[in-house]
Amino acid sequence: MLIKNAEFICSNTEVSKLPEPSIPEYAFIGRSNVGKSSLINSITGKKGLAKTSQKPGKTQLINHFLIDKTWYMVDLPGYGFAVTSKKNRADWERFIRRYLTQRENLQCVFVLVDSRHEPQKIDVDFCCWLGEKGLPFMLIFTKADKQSGVKSDQNMAKFRKTLSQWFEEVPPTFLTSAEKKEGGDAIIEVIREINAN
Ligand code: GDP
Repeated sequence: MLIKNAEFICSNTEVSKLPEPSIPEYAFIGRSNVGKSSLINSITGKKGLAKTSQKPGKTQLINHFLIDKTWYMVDLPGYGFAVTSKKNRADWERFIRRYLTQRENLQCVFVLVDSRHEPQKIDVDFCCWLGEKGLPFMLIFTKADKQSGVKSDQNMAKFRKTLSQWFEEVPPTFLTSAEKKEGGDAIIEVIREINAN
């Protein structure tokens, strides 16, 4: 476990009320139910830090966690939930897109993708949007324990190939399992490297 200390700082529904952008920050986002809360809990070693839930689309807040007193891990609400109105979806988009494009200390967006599936349009579209806005991002494939390594590798390769239609250089990818506590350290190492530069 590379993280020694993880503290919940605040939950927000408004970009204007976020903590001072005085330290680097890294956002985690993905389709609802992708396993984001489980991964955050597994990486930080704190079981209840991000709430895990079976009910998609529950978290509608920007949650800030202070990691080792040096950087913020930011838990963003999941996208692509089915049980919501068009208005809710539009509100989500405005809120999150504003956060992503305006947050000056945001170093990198980690986009979580379910490793069990072939590339999904909603994930690919989101990556393309990040690319259009010039926002640096990396891909985290989740739930690796749910199928064979070969299957995960195939799905990751397909995702990279899909993105390569739009990106000259496909961003780094990580394969993780919150269940088996695997893959998290590589993400923390990359974050530390960015913080050191
Ligand atoms: P979120 O909506 O993206 O925050 O997703 P959650 O973390 O709440 O996870 C959604 C469901 O997937 C829950 O039932 C989790 O127990 C399950 N899950 C999450 N990560 C893993 C994993 O690495 N392996 C397995 N087997 N299940 C997982």
